[in-house]
Amino acid sequence: MERLQKVIAHAGIASRRKSEDLITQGKVKVNGEVVKTLGVKVSSKDLVEVNGIPIDKEHPVYFLFYKPKNTLSAVSDDRGRPVITDYFKEIPERIYPIGRLDFDTTGLILLTNDGEFANLLMHPKYQVEKTYVAKVSAIPTKQQLYKLEKGIVIDGKKTSKAKARLISQDNKKNTAIVELTIHEGWNHQVKKMFEAINCPVTKLKREKFSFLTLEKLQPGMYRELKSFEIEKLK
Ligand code: URA
Repeated sequence: MERLQKVIAHAGIASRRKSEDLITQGKVKVNGEVVKTLGVKVSSKDLVEVNGIPIDKEHPVYFLFYKPKNTLSAVSDDRGRPVITDYFKEIPERIYPIGRLDFDTTGLILLTNDGEFANLLMHPKYQVEKTYVAKVSAIPTKQQLYKLEKGIVIDGKKTSKAKARLISQDNKKNTAIVELTIHEGWNHQVKKMFEAINCPVTKLKREKFSFLTLEKLQPGMYRELKSFEIEKLK
C-alpha cells in the first residue's frame, strides 16, 4: 500500500506537491469515488483516476546502463536507429532514460519508469556532478583548462565552476585525453565547452553520475540500482 499522492507522482503526472493539490481539488478518484483527503493509501488493485484518466501504477524500477556508441537516448526512433531501450527488451516496465547522451557518446545513463525521480534529477536546480572523459584533437594548455574550470560562455550562458584534468597527451598525433566534471546538463555541453577552447571532441564517455560509476559493466550492459543508491540520489 502506498500513499495516493506518491502513486500519482510516481506515475510522472505531477510532483508530489502538485499531486496533493490534485487530490484536494477533487480531481482524483479511487475506484470511482472522489478522494479529497490526503493520506489515503492505495494498492496496485485500486483503480486511480486523475481528471477521469486511469493512471498507470507500474512498480518503479531503476537501472544504471552503459550506453554503447551509436545508440539513441530514446525509447523509439522514426528513422529506425538503435535506441537505448533495445537493451531492455526483457524488462516489462515502460522505462525511459533520465536525460540524454549524444548518439555517439558512450557511458553511464540512468533509466526508470519513476516520473517523479526523473523530474527531480533533471531539474536545473538539482546540479548533480557528471564526469566525462573526452578525447580531443589538440593538446589543451593550462590556461585553456582553467577557462573550462572557471566557467565559459556557450550559447550565451556561462557554465558553472567545473573541474578539468589532463589525463594524457600524444604529441605526435596532437591529441589529448581530458577529464571534465560539470554540473549542468545542457545540450552537447561538453562538446561545446571544448569547442570554445579550440579543442574539438572526437570521442566522449560519461564515467560518473553523482557517486555512481560504471564499475565492471561493459557497453550494452546494465544493473539495477540498489535502494540505498536511489535514496542517496533523491
Ligand atoms: N555533453 C555532450 O556534448 N554530449 C553528451 O553526450 C553529453 C554531454
